Amino acid sequence: MKVIKNIDETLFIEFDDENANTTISGIPVMFISKKTMGSLIKGMIDALGEGVRPLLYTSGYNAGRKSAPVVIRHWDCKNLEETISATAQQFARYGWLLLKDVKLSEDGREIICMVEKSFENQAYQGMSNHSNCYFLEGFLCGYMEVVYNKENLVCEETACPTTGDKACQFVIKPKFWKE
Ligand SMILES: [Zn+2]
Repeated sequence: MKVIKNIDETLFIEFDDENANTTISGIPVMFISKKTMGSLIKGMIDALGEGVRPLLYTSGYNAGRKSAPVVIRHWDCKNLEETISATAQQFARYGWLLLKDVKLSEDGREIICMVEKSFENQAYQGMSNHSNCYFLEGFLCGYMEVVYNKENLVCEETACPTTGDKACQFVIKPKFWKE
């Protein structure tokens, strides 16, 4: 059986100070503190309310669709199990989240993702009456479309520490039900 790569074999950070360009495995990145990111997201939600959801969801969705093939390629993932394992390791290392579980619902129609330590609700823990990891809703939707080779999925966050839950729960399902 093939052994999945170690995270340190997979992520290479390079600095090009003359061009203010830092890359991880060839992808340009920037560092931003979680406090600043939290304040940016909280500021948008405070200003726009739930109207900010489509904006964050769409930008997350596009990022998720682009990100999954990169992870699969860099880690040389050969199957679903390896892809989920690589994803969990990579996003923990990125400081984004802990991907605790990914499973199908009993009827096989929904993908359920359990996430702890989401970067997106850091500024909002226990302070809201609705879930607010809107970027991650979109991101996981786009990401899992690629991983599960499906299209037209939609994601809803059904639990979140913003409302006092221990973890975020994301339910990803077909946009159009087929009987
Ligand atoms: Zn959440």
